[in-house]
Amino acid sequence: MAQRNPRYDVLFEPVPIGPVTAPNRFYQTPHATGMGYAKPKASATLRGIKAEGGWGVVCTEYCSIHPSSEDAPYGFLTLWDEEDVRALAVTTDAIHAHGSLAGIELWHGGMHAINKLMREPALAPSESSSHFVQPQQVRAMDKQDIAQFRQWQINAARRAERAGFDIVYVYAGHGYLPFQFLSPLTNQRSDEYGGSLENRVRLLREMIEDTREAVGDTCAVAVRLAVDEMHGPGGITSDGEGREIVEMLAELPDLWDVNLAGDLGYDSRSSRFSPEGYQEDYVSFVKSVTSKPVVSVGRFTSPDTMVSQIKRGVQDFIGAARPSIADPFLPRKINEGREDEVRECIGCNICRASNNEGVPLRCTQNPTMGEEWRRGWHPEIIVPQSSEAKVLVVGAGPAGLEASLALGRRGYQVMLAEAGRELGGRLVHEAALPGLGNWMRVRDHRVHMLEKLAHVEIFRESALTPDDMFDVAPDHVALATGSSWRRDGAGTLSAPAAEIDPALGALTPNDVFAGAELSGDVTIYDDEHYFMAGALAEKFVLAGHKVTLVTPHTLVSAWTEMTNEQIFIQQKLSGLGVEFIFSHALIKAGPGKLVWRCTYSGQEFETAANQLVLVTGRSPNRALHDALEARGGEWADAGIKSVACIGDCLVPSTIADAVHRGHRYARELEVPASNRMVRRERPIPELEAEVL
Ligand code: ADP
Ligand code: SF4
Repeated sequence: MAQRNPRYDVLFEPVPIGPVTAPNRFYQTPHATGMGYAKPKASATLRGIKAEGGWGVVCTEYCSIHPSSEDAPYGFLTLWDEEDVRALAVTTDAIHAHGSLAGIELWHGGMHAINKLMREPALAPSESSSHFVQPQQVRAMDKQDIAQFRQWQINAARRAERAGFDIVYVYAGHGYLPFQFLSPLTNQRSDEYGGSLENRVRLLREMIEDTREAVGDTCAVAVRLAVDEMHGPGGITSDGEGREIVEMLAELPDLWDVNLAGDLGYDSRSSRFSPEGYQEDYVSFVKSVTSKPVVSVGRFTSPDTMVSQIKRGVQDFIGAARPSIADPFLPRKINEGREDEVRECIGCNICRASNNEGVPLRCTQNPTMGEEWRRGWHPEIIVPQSSEAKVLVVGAGPAGLEASLALGRRGYQVMLAEAGRELGGRLVHEAALPGLGNWMRVRDHRVHMLEKLAHVEIFRESALTPDDMFDVAPDHVALATGSSWRRDGAGTLSAPAAEIDPALGALTPNDVFAGAELSGDVTIYDDEHYFMAGALAEKFVLAGHKVTLVTPHTLVSAWTEMTNEQIFIQQKLSGLGVEFIFSHALIKAGPGKLVWRCTYSGQEFETAANQLVLVTGRSPNRALHDALEARGGEWADAGIKSVACIGDCLVPSTIADAVHRGHRYARELEVPASNRMVRRERPIPELEAEVL
């Protein structure tokens, strides 16, 4: 086995955090899994794998301290009673089994917790409307409420200790209740908890002291603080009150976990809008005002950048949420001199989308994420091949590459045929769009790993026909031939598709990627609502075109609200001068005009028939599949036992889904259905309910 590069030794030094010691500097900061209290076994398995992968500290997601703070229908943990203690002890056991420390992010959302499940009134420092578009208002806490709230934190901290946690958080980040007391934008109180900064800090100070008293000297007390809420000088800023807060409380906690907030969108910005280490300018002051260890995040995947963070004194740990999702074994790979094998996060925020959609964690780069317990998928372990079969994979996009890699890891002999000269499929063009360069890591990681497998052969410039396949005579065929953008204008609004005059020369993204010339002003019709239309708009503006983006939705790139990018996309395109027409569907294109219909009123209006680009639905590239199926009678003679479609060729979707489907195909090939596990958690039998 390769040896660790001594350059990275510093990353593996133990670091004391109050009464406990982290075995190294790899710190998996709290992150949502979408699993929450309802899926304790799935959560525990996921966190245990992080510890096995070498993360010295592994934290949970947000864990509610009381029923007045819940986030249904999203996945959140609870420490409301002894049953929760028992359920979370499964997680601490899983983390401790690998010698790592377990941290818990105790949470009260205040005005962010609308409490649709428990129907408790939302609490806040001051009376106001809800933070979200909701008919509920939030209730100002009186002194009794504050005293009760402090007790809830104490109770939860004690339960956390009983559940076996080593680090207990006081969570004043991401705009949640303790932060709402800090910020002058949400705290308009006139008592000793409002007004001056000293007063606004009072509750946080009390919470740190209360928590320490609750856990004694067995657990460390961490403070998670948003040092800048990104709302400008009216709020907490890192060169204003954010700094003063850290100065005032500098030595009180055992660890500072610092980041940006406002909302989660700023903290976990996608690579389209922020590079690796993007929080450094905001958080780097913290170490200069406290002697306590500091952790922060920044989508760190390069060990050299990590070393630089430590050596330059930016932080004491390498905080990571997304990099630990994309590769739970990142620390171990660096420790074993295998840093070239790290599956780097691409910053696409599909992981954020799963939480925002209320489903278990998904990751573009790591298809096993969220499947550890449910399907029994381990990121580093895969069942060996079931036979000496040969597998032909057609198409080297995300699905074909992942299927080939996972099949190769199982030991199968694989032939991967790609029509083009370049590998990567859709990534070749999509990663070349403005801001999406990191997406190429999906291809590059897999190609790099495939090059290590002698029994996987890659054939470029090999557009296969059914005859070729019968000649090759594999045992199994996986068709990963991708999809093509539709040119009939049919998207999410589905039928009827628009009436499009072929003489108009409307283009699809495929035409643009194939090098079609655009003439003059461009109209993009987006009825897909993910990244493509917005990214093309940016590309066209940068090439000097005037761009109008029309969508039947009320927002630009509407689905990117799930990846926490929507606001940044609309901001950017507005700044670039892109014009928007919302709530209009394309009815007719040409001759001489584009006809649009308002999705609410039904009224129609026309615009000039300039260069139209259609970003709507995609059709699976099934020609090869259909041709093979038509010759099904010849399979047996050629020795072909199965033909399957994977990725976009099965059903067009995200890159994450293509990777997952490629991986699943490989995991399940020649595995009897009875051995393919898909488990669902059932509630753990209840204990006597406590009075909460
Ligand atoms: P996915 O996202 O499902 O992986 P992509 O569209 O990214 O799909 O990739 C599909 C790949 O399949 C492309 O690189 C394309 O060139 C290749 N391909 C399509 N048809 C054939 C074929 N007949 N033979 C070989 N490669 C093909
Ligand atoms: Fe990174 Fe994307 Fe995976 Fe999230 S989903 S961890 S952003 S690669």
